[in-house]
Amino acid sequence: MRYFLWTVGCQMNVADSKKLAAGFERLGLERAPDAASADVAVVNTCSVRQHAEDRAASMLGRLRLLKEARPAFKIAVMGCMVGPRAEALERRFPFVDAFARPQQFAPVLALAEEPAEDLGGEFWPSTFAAPDGPTAFVPVVHGCDKFCTYCIVPYRRGRERSRPINEIAREVAWLTARGVREVTLLGQTVEAYGHDLDGQPDLGDLMRALSADERLARIRFLTSYPKDMTARILAAVAGLPKVMECFSLPVQAGSDAVLASMRRGYAKAGYVAKVAEVRALMPDAGITTDIIVGYPGETEADFAETLALLEELRFDKVHVAAYSPRPGTIAHRTMADDVPAEVKAERLQRVQAVEERISRERNAACLGTVQTILVEGVNAKGQPYGRTRAGRLVHLDAPARAGALADVRIEHAGPFALRGTALDALALV
Ligand code: SF4
Repeated sequence: MRYFLWTVGCQMNVADSKKLAAGFERLGLERAPDAASADVAVVNTCSVRQHAEDRAASMLGRLRLLKEARPAFKIAVMGCMVGPRAEALERRFPFVDAFARPQQFAPVLALAEEPAEDLGGEFWPSTFAAPDGPTAFVPVVHGCDKFCTYCIVPYRRGRERSRPINEIAREVAWLTARGVREVTLLGQTVEAYGHDLDGQPDLGDLMRALSADERLARIRFLTSYPKDMTARILAAVAGLPKVMECFSLPVQAGSDAVLASMRRGYAKAGYVAKVAEVRALMPDAGITTDIIVGYPGETEADFAETLALLEELRFDKVHVAAYSPRPGTIAHRTMADDVPAEVKAERLQRVQAVEERISRERNAACLGTVQTILVEGVNAKGQPYGRTRAGRLVHLDAPARAGALADVRIEHAGPFALRGTALDALALV
């Protein structure tokens, strides 16, 4: 039997799909290059934005045609589009054979019609996703307890549950034995790691344990949540050489009124203080953020505060999205989506313009410096690429070996990436 996997959404979804693929392969299935040549297809969905749902629906439309021609073909829908009750989805997509919530792999694997195997409990501790390069994502804490008003994640991925340190260390050792040199520790709020485990280890304890793996060169982590970033965790990031000074720290808005309405759990001053704490300890840290424009009730004055915050904090990268109400969330139930679409579009463009200018300026400050990157692979133009400690994307002018750590002199800086020449002959092919 052959399986086909289609994934949209965050790194956690990508990690789930890789784990599911490992489960299929453990049951003896082979990966198919496309849905047409598969016996079972899985659509791993995301509900965070309407656009992601639309893409999944259009993929399902294509799969329906395959099933009409070949009724034995099985289709599963997994991920954040699937809530505790799937009746509405069953009515909308009656040709789908199985619906499964995020990480609920059993109903999907049941479609394989192979003898069921106990994969070892909720986190499949002995089933690891095969790496496809020198970097890998490793989920360490699942779910989220924060319940921001606009977000569907806590309802779909459940409460925070951490994997034990020894289990994660075993997975990382398995990965590094297969050529992985950098792992990114994943959590919706990654600093929440460990509060539910015996002895309450924190993310710093986990990083310390993983640093002992001699084959591992780099540790990254995302996504950060300001209130969970303790001084102890920040000291671990600053003090452990293998941990990259790179933070994905969503702020979402610059107005206290909007932050309170979003129930983000902090005000602007608290967020600014957290960034100052990071930069005091790690002056070269890379910090990226997420912004939502057009949240219910966002006035022009609120939005101006967001722009002012971007100017004040000068992030390395800003991911911006226009608010879209997600059914099942507090905001969808209780707030009118009252910012007109054209205003959202205009605010989105204004954020993008500020972000592009600041990113360009911050990248330009790297010109002439030497940065160490881990060569991750080759882009569509055949150029090797990797990331600096702070997370900046760097393209190389000459071939380089994937998995090598290379010192690179930065010779060109654009808003989205840097370009340079590797100084270290050992990194070259
Ligand atoms: S912290 Fe808020 S936005 Fe992030 S996953 Fe949790 S509920 Fe969603």
